[in-house]
Amino acid sequence: MAGIVVVFDFDKTILEVDSDNWVVDELDATAVFDQLLNTMPWNTLMDRMMTELHSKGKTTDDIANVLKKVPIHPQIITAVKAAHAFGCDLRIVSDANSFFIETILEHFGITECFSEINTNPSFIDEEGRLRISPYHDFRHGCKLCPPNMCKGMIIERIQREVDKKTMIYLGDGAGDYCPSLKLEAGDYVMPRKNFPVWELICENRDMVKAEIHEWSDGDEFAKILLHLIDEISTEVDDNQNINTNDCGTTARLFSLDCDFSTSTIPVHEALPQPLPAVPVRF
Ligand SMILES: [Mg+2]
Ligand SMILES: [Zn+2]
Repeated sequence: MAGIVVVFDFDKTILEVDSDNWVVDELDATAVFDQLLNTMPWNTLMDRMMTELHSKGKTTDDIANVLKKVPIHPQIITAVKAAHAFGCDLRIVSDANSFFIETILEHFGITECFSEINTNPSFIDEEGRLRISPYHDFRHGCKLCPPNMCKGMIIERIQREVDKKTMIYLGDGAGDYCPSLKLEAGDYVMPRKNFPVWELICENRDMVKAEIHEWSDGDEFAKILLHLIDEISTEVDDNQNINTNDCGTTARLFSLDCDFSTSTIPVHEALPQPLPAVPVRF
């Protein structure tokens, strides 16, 4: 069953928190961050913050170690693994950076679940400092998106690549609104309830062609995502008049170690506050 592409935002979608804020706060650089916040674009600021951390003697290992402690809901990991095992094409579109995302995915053992990570490139320079670059140059021209990344343009490229597959997009931030508008009828968008993308979609429902399914926490993320995948694949099977087996598609998907009834959540020390105060993070 390879007819479904699931595209995930990363911060406050796969993760409970924003990885940029997490690293800055955990490495005691919040005061400098707050001071610089309104003086430059977020992506430029994060590159600058890596220099600040480096000048304070923090290494990329220190950064990796705090990234490995980031809160992530266990059912989200389970759902990602189940969707991948079921044959869905999973991709990430994120305004974080490749070092943060790769470190976290590796730590939680889900790197192989994703066919593609679209994010700001990063590298470690000769002085051992993490550098973060923009994904797009600042001339992409989309007024909805931050200057370094238009997620809508990435979605359009994926749509051209995958042709007729059904797309499910999950996100929380204002930067997830543009890609939500690019989805077609028959696609699905899963905005995180009470977060900026949800507000924007609620205010502009007529602009969104995809079917909208809101979610609030990791349990709902997992249940709704797997339910949609199940529904779409059943429809495809019906349309193609394929007899699967006695268990059917539902049994196959939900047999993949997805026991939602025993969901314990050990990692909620740092729940995000909905709708953070300005300035809004894209
Ligand atoms: Mg996000
Ligand atoms: Zn855009």
